[in-house]
Amino acid sequence: MRRCSICILPEVYPNISFDEKGECNFCKTHQKIQFLGKSKLKEDLLKNKKDKGKYDCLVPVSGGKDSTFVLYQMSKVYQMRVLAFNYDNRLTHPQAQENVRKIVNYLGVDLVIKKNKKQKKYMAINLRAYLRKPSVGMIPMLCTGCRYGIIGNAFNIAKEYDIPMIIIGWSPIEDTPFKEVYLKDNGNSVIGGLLRNLIKNPAYIRPNNMIGAVKDYYHSYQQVKDWNIVLKMLHPNVKLIQFYDYVPYNPDEIENIVERELSWETPDKKDSWQFDCKIKLLQNYFYEKELGFTATDCYLSAMVREGFISRSEALERLKYSKQNKDKKLNQLHEFLKDINMEDLIFYFS
Ligand SMILES: [Zn+2]
Repeated sequence: MRRCSICILPEVYPNISFDEKGECNFCKTHQKIQFLGKSKLKEDLLKNKKDKGKYDCLVPVSGGKDSTFVLYQMSKVYQMRVLAFNYDNRLTHPQAQENVRKIVNYLGVDLVIKKNKKQKKYMAINLRAYLRKPSVGMIPMLCTGCRYGIIGNAFNIAKEYDIPMIIIGWSPIEDTPFKEVYLKDNGNSVIGGLLRNLIKNPAYIRPNNMIGAVKDYYHSYQQVKDWNIVLKMLHPNVKLIQFYDYVPYNPDEIENIVERELSWETPDKKDSWQFDCKIKLLQNYFYEKELGFTATDCYLSAMVREGFISRSEALERLKYSKQNKDKKLNQLHEFLKDINMEDLIFYFS
């Protein structure tokens, strides 16, 4: 398959075009991410800190490296009084849960865990609906409830404990804009695309599922970044700070630090991105099958464009990730057994 000569996006990526040198349009128009800097972060932390209450900030942690690094920085480096928060959707990798426990203990940070059993139910409904009539734009529906589960709950807990700030560890490098392209389908809106898909496949339609999807939309990366009107109205007293808007996000460097300083662990060092939630296994399976690429192509390309890894390193990692196909398939089968959906195993081979 032909790939961009600068990054590794494949020719089947939506809206891609190549010039005579084989450079893709995304590389040609790319501008490196600008960071606000550590002194601005310090300034904003001090500005928003209240001296009353037990905590200065709330940090949502998944057990992945990015949020672990944020927790470490807030607690040890910036000396904030931190409350950690973990959203347990019952679909996370045991190693991620283990990381959370180990690291809050090590840092001496209090932890609130919110468990949600319903998310599994939504996932099951959406997985069965998808398999009835696969439509690429609807693959993200498998995650319904999770965005709100993390960010919505973080706001609620901040309110409950009178905490003035939430510090989150999302980075634009991990953005996967292609997912929305398939839902929008020829430039329509996300909501329009969603409605069209629901009419075509009513198996998705359940009240909780729909409310969950709307709540997620208002708590998604871009909506939170733009601090939309709904969030402004709902949470006037809580400031949300995106840590990686200030501090450069270099995934490999972060991984090395959390391993060294906190004994953070990953099940597979060479393919550790997004290991924390098992739904990603399912999603990547579908993307690979339907499109011939996954979010990993997108992520590695973003890392090349930022200059964190070379193109050949990205290709090598992608190759490794694809070689792991059988292992991932086994994990996927185990996962389906785990959630009592082994009747679906025959779809995944
Ligand atoms: Zn490119």
